Amino acid sequence: MTVQVRQDDDSYELSPRYLVGCDGGHSVVRQQAGIAFPGSADPEVLRMGHFRAPEAAGLYTNAGLDVPGFGRLQRGWNRTPRGAVLAMSLQPGVVIAGVREPGEAPRDKASLTLPELQASARRVLGGELPLGEPIWLSQVVVQGRLAQRYRDGRVFLAGDAAHLFPAGGALTVGLPDAVNLGWKLAAALIDRADLLDTYEAERRPIAKRALLQTRAQAALTQAAGDNGVALRELLGELLTYAGPLRHLVALMDGSDRRFDTIPGGHPLTGRFVPALPLKSFLRNGKPILLDLADRPAVRAIARRLARRSGHSPVRRPPNGRPAGPSRWLCRVGRRRT
Ligand SMILES: Cc1cc2nc3c(=O)[nH]c(=O)nc-3n(C[C@H](O)[C@H](O)[C@H](O)COP(=O)(O)OP(=O)(O)OC[C@H]3O[C@@H](n4cnc5c(N)ncnc54)[C@H](O)[C@@H]3O)c2cc1C
Repeated sequence: MTVQVRQDDDSYELSPRYLVGCDGGHSVVRQQAGIAFPGSADPEVLRMGHFRAPEAAGLYTNAGLDVPGFGRLQRGWNRTPRGAVLAMSLQPGVVIAGVREPGEAPRDKASLTLPELQASARRVLGGELPLGEPIWLSQVVVQGRLAQRYRDGRVFLAGDAAHLFPAGGALTVGLPDAVNLGWKLAAALIDRADLLDTYEAERRPIAKRALLQTRAQAALTQAAGDNGVALRELLGELLTYAGPLRHLVALMDGSDRRFDTIPGGHPLTGRFVPALPLKSFLRNGKPILLDLADRPAVRAIARRLARRSGHSPVRRPPNGRPAGPSRWLCRVGRRRT
């Protein structure tokens, strides 16, 4: 495998052991690897930007913003019969504004201009959205796609190159892709341990679930008229119950998925760590091995890992035991001198 790199006036070739395509939705790596990217585009364009707008403090404090010709714009998404407008602020003086409206795929993300965004807001709101000086502007066609495979031999895909979602949450899936793949590539290079097939097995089903929930989100936000209002109101009622709310949150953050690492193992194996009192042990950012069954073999593996990484042997927790079924907390930390 040969990769051509062009940087400024420089151009050179690399022959890497592995190649990861994190080159976005139009991924050249994915296309070159011949990996299909099935899905669909909504007939909707999202135009967005960040703006310096000190006068729009009401979007930071939740008071909203007066828009001449429209009325009061609420913090968050505001629906109109012609689309939706986002107006919010997460830091004083900086406004995040966006407009979704029916339209064609834009030429490219970076080609959006302030007058184009303002014109879009005018069409959707029927009023003049007061935007300050743009910090950045971007536009995308709203689409949902999932790569047919995440791996082709020594080529891998991660992030938008592997999946596109028609509603928010792309980073919740894309960043853990990189976390999942990174240490497995390191293990393959350093240890010759081949866990690389587990990358697709673990991450692709999560993206598939994310596609399910973001498609549903898109349908909910797009549903127009009285029927759309009724649909959103009814779903809002359902989400006042803890069960449906918990189900949806776990679906959105990917914690409903269990990696089947040890078939028939402990119910917590392969899941996100639940609410255990681990805070003091996580402070130094070092790996922690939790053995819920107090098995000598696991302790031996932890000691071996600790030795190899130059860290101290496994220790019992200094203060009491973790809650629930946990009986041992094995910590792999830096050796005390
Ligand atoms: C307007 C907008 C708002 C968004 N809001 C949110 C949000 O609120 N929450 C959220 O979770 N997500 C959001 N997203 C999505 C989020 O930005 C993306 O999911 C995320 O940036 C994807 O990261 P990535 O690294 O996979 O791809 P990208 O961010 O697309 O990065 C790909 C990189 O590869 C480079 N590249 C591409 N081709 C080549 C090549 N041939 N050679 C060399 N380099 C190349 C590009 O220049 C780029 O730097 C938003 C996106 C947009 C456009």
